[in-house]
Amino acid sequence: MGVAILGATGTVGQRFIQLLENHPWFEVVEVMASDQSAGKRYEEAVGSPWKLPTAIPEKVRGLRVKGPRDKVTSRLLFSALDASVAGELEEHYARAGHLVSSNARNHRMDPLVPLVIPEINRDHLSLLEKQPYANGGGIVTNPNCSTIVLALTLAPLHQRFGVESVIVTTFQATSGAGYPGVPSLDILGNVVPFVPGEEGKMESETQKILGTMNGRGIEPATFPVSAQCHRVPVVDGHLEAVSLKLRRAASRKQVAEALTGFRPLAKLDLPSAPADPISVRTEDDRPQPRLDVDREGGMGVTVGRLRPCPVLQWKFEALGHNTIRGAAGAAILNAEILRRDGRI
Ligand code: NAP
Repeated sequence: MGVAILGATGTVGQRFIQLLENHPWFEVVEVMASDQSAGKRYEEAVGSPWKLPTAIPEKVRGLRVKGPRDKVTSRLLFSALDASVAGELEEHYARAGHLVSSNARNHRMDPLVPLVIPEINRDHLSLLEKQPYANGGGIVTNPNCSTIVLALTLAPLHQRFGVESVIVTTFQATSGAGYPGVPSLDILGNVVPFVPGEEGKMESETQKILGTMNGRGIEPATFPVSAQCHRVPVVDGHLEAVSLKLRRAASRKQVAEALTGFRPLAKLDLPSAPADPISVRTEDDRPQPRLDVDREGGMGVTVGRLRPCPVLQWKFEALGHNTIRGAAGAAILNAEILRRDGRI
């Protein structure tokens, strides 16, 4: 089926175009961005900020970029819009009968909008039926790039042992800030101990994703999450140091087995689903962004340094690709599960 990318010229928009180049189900036939890009050929609009090592796909190069609110014909839209406009534009397209799979933060915490990681909470997609849009329109979101890494590692532990409390410290890549992002003079040889809005997102989105559906909506998980977020001079890959307390006692072996055995999508044959969503490494110095970020095409989260925590119970490092598993790849996987469930 043909699909459209909203915010197609940005960091995440480019990832969508790259990841969908040979997708067996979805083909990019429409691209949309701001007024400054509208009317130009995609190749011209994106210009030198095309920052991926693969070339712009032949079929997308010549597409004429549409402007905000222009009519699109595709039923499925992927949104990589800047948050300053995503809220209003995504609603506009949902009202027009399109299903929007969004990366933007604007609707993630809306009570009727599913915030989905298919391995964890695909049942939350039933919220779509409660949304106020006619003709099959709707909005589905994926979490913030650092929340996805954390929630994926917590889910199997929460299901098996119950999570009681979590402390997480992040080391986040500069590509997470879009292009041109953080000025080089601020980030080179430095660590910035502030990523605007990030800590609150990690704390609340995690509880929504790991929450349970009841007749009215989502009951968020109740365990507290405390996040401290840092921007570091890494191009791609968010590394997270996680400490947690479990409700039921678990050995190191049981924790590791819960993580590596977590394969809820194994039988669904989804093109973007990683065979091993979580891999646990045993070396002392892994995972590292440079070495491990591309595991499973950027869709796998890598855990390492699983060891006892003297304050809580267990601690480990987790790494995920922020623009693939944490953004474009996540929204594509959401669309695949929507299709598998017969919603598109
Ligand atoms: P970005 O590089 O700044 O790109 C923003 C996109 O939005 C561009 O295509 C831009 O088009 C478009 N845009 C800006 N103003 C617009 C308007 N008035 N009307 C229509 N389009 C407009 O940002 P990004 O990093 O790709 O992030 C995109 C979204 O994904 C954001 O909501 C962000 O929070 C979220 N996100 C990002 C990451 C990440 O790792 N980067 C991870 C998870 C979620 P022009 O080129 O024409 O200006």
